[in-house]
Amino acid sequence: MTISLAPLPYADTALAPFISASALQTHHDRHHQTYVDNVNAATKGGTFALASLAAIISAAAAGDDQSLFNNAAQAWNHGFFWHSLSPGPEQPGAALSAAIDRAFGSLPALKDELLHQGMAHFGSGWVWLVKRGAALAVEQTHDAATFAVAGPGGEAVPLLVIDLWEHAYYPDYRNVRKSYLNQLIAGHLAWTFASENFARDGAWTYPDLI
Ligand code: MN
Repeated sequence: MTISLAPLPYADTALAPFISASALQTHHDRHHQTYVDNVNAATKGGTFALASLAAIISAAAAGDDQSLFNNAAQAWNHGFFWHSLSPGPEQPGAALSAAIDRAFGSLPALKDELLHQGMAHFGSGWVWLVKRGAALAVEQTHDAATFAVAGPGGEAVPLLVIDLWEHAYYPDYRNVRKSYLNQLIAGHLAWTFASENFARDGAWTYPDLI
């Protein structure tokens, strides 16, 4: 078994001008592909013959294999990230919308928090909307750290993620992370996907088997 490169859930032109086709191709076809290739090279002929990507992430974390963890978690995070983006504006479903109001007061207040934490994050990483029990939270992870399996601080279900690595925005925005975040948060968060994740007990499953 090898891990597959999860396909984009839309055409590579679908996010333009927010993300140009060439930037999206580089991010998906090169960055994401490299993480997938590194996982497959590291697990070839090993003990992961029937393992899912999530199982490889868990085993790498438990076994202190930082290199395998980094590549496996980044492969999963990118698959989740593509689905966290939408070509056009979407709205959260009724149940998620009610949970957002309870946790943040309103959807605009949640968006402000995503922007604030996305700007405050130092270095490479991710900002997530997660569900902990019945509550929602915005949380950051550094480098490859992930909510694919039990995330930092315990069990949490990821609903959406935003890539804060410079490779995510430098091709279109250079160093202006705020413009990238403003456009993403205002019009390209996949609230339908978030609502599906909210309704589920566990994390989204990476389409990992080929
Ligand atoms: Mn990335």
